[in-house]
Amino acid sequence: MHKNISIIGAGIAGCSLAHFLAKTGWKVRLIESQNAIAQGGSGNPAAAIYPKFMVNDKTYNEFMLKSFTFTSRWINDLGLNQKDYALNGAIEILEKDYADKLAVKLSKNFSTKKNCFTKVDEVLLKKYTIQPKNKGLFFHQGGWVHPKALCEHLIDHPHIEVITKQAIISIEHKNADWIVKSSDYVEYKSHHVAICNAEHVHQFKSTQHLHTDAFRGQVNWVNQSTLTVPSIVTCEEGYLIPPMHKKHVFGATYAMNDFDKNLRLSDTKKNIASIKNIHNDFYQSCLKEKSIRGRVAWRASTKDRKPYVGRIFDEKRFNQLRVRELAHAENLPWLDNLYVASGFGSRGFTFAPYCAFVLANFLNHTLSKEDKATLNYTNPERYRLKNMSLKKVASRIFEV
Ligand SMILES: Cc1cc2nc3c(=O)[nH]c(=O)nc-3n(C[C@H](O)[C@H](O)[C@H](O)COP(=O)(O)OP(=O)(O)OC[C@H]3O[C@@H](n4cnc5c(N)ncnc54)[C@H](O)[C@@H]3O)c2cc1C
Repeated sequence: MHKNISIIGAGIAGCSLAHFLAKTGWKVRLIESQNAIAQGGSGNPAAAIYPKFMVNDKTYNEFMLKSFTFTSRWINDLGLNQKDYALNGAIEILEKDYADKLAVKLSKNFSTKKNCFTKVDEVLLKKYTIQPKNKGLFFHQGGWVHPKALCEHLIDHPHIEVITKQAIISIEHKNADWIVKSSDYVEYKSHHVAICNAEHVHQFKSTQHLHTDAFRGQVNWVNQSTLTVPSIVTCEEGYLIPPMHKKHVFGATYAMNDFDKNLRLSDTKKNIASIKNIHNDFYQSCLKEKSIRGRVAWRASTKDRKPYVGRIFDEKRFNQLRVRELAHAENLPWLDNLYVASGFGSRGFTFAPYCAFVLANFLNHTLSKEDKATLNYTNPERYRLKNMSLKKVASRIFEV
């Protein structure tokens, strides 16, 4: 097996994949268009880690729980600097009826996974100095991480070469190798390639059909104050991260296909408003604050909220096959050694490390049954197959 790979994009997806592969003996070239790693969505000052469950989507919830359980444990065991993460819990404030319904559903579906959450009560709210009378769920393993510190930690390995300021513009297959070419006409050859470039995933010929919407988001922060604020991540419409790196981070706004790179006062106001119900004193202090900083980035979201993780089809062979041939998983025309890990939406720091772990297992031929179920779920070709009424095979590319 040729264990060498070029990974395009050095956010949490690319860095996690680089990490898992380097640890299993691969030589990794991580190529980033910006002048440093973690400059896209993964460049925010903090990322909240907690599961966002749905009342009526059991399979999504299973994927969410697998990702959350894996990632929170993994971050705890990585040996990150204490100041760069805390997984001491996260509260999601919800409408009472919704919280009750969700709690019942989750307990029913995940009866074996105890200790994942408890319902929020007054004692808990008081303990964490969150506005009383709120309802919701408390996720025991939730928390936050400093994205850049995490990414830097992940790529600190002698088998990972990081190349910055090289925007990849094409990927071609030549004599059993892949050649990726940058806008500076530099060519990189490797046996395998992984595309981890978030909302730009459709930029290459072979991935142009992978649709994502770019959701602009603005986060804000103020210098740490003497106020006693919640010591755990608290989320409602927005989130408030406990004091970290001498600041209070809160956010974030959400606007589809809005490409304005500038900070907006209207968004800062929205972010301030979103913490009113979490902590009124902090909200009041933000209203008076003169120096509020912020950052804008984009989330790459798919229509069904599931990321694209796995392989893609060889266009030519795909067009030659008949529908009834494509209905059999063994006939699907996969491109060899080209992979995608993109479209992580607003949950990249929960999903991407887990998905990168599964993808690395695929490359290492060590897929477990659970990994196969995950790749069935995240199949990047699901839309092309579903459009041909081949929904069944789209979610059964691996036998489990
Ligand atoms: C405001 C905001 C708040 C958020 N809050 C949270 C949160 O609290 N918790 C959470 O889990 N998630 C959060 N998210 C989502 C999270 O940030 C993303 O899901 C995650 O960062 C996606 O990681 P990624 O590696 O896929 O993409 P990115 O981090 O965007 O990385 C992609 C990289 O690819 C590079 N690239 C693109 N094209 C090329 C090319 N052609 N050649 C070379 N390099 C290329 C880019 O420069 C970029 O560095 C938030 C997002 C935003 C915008």
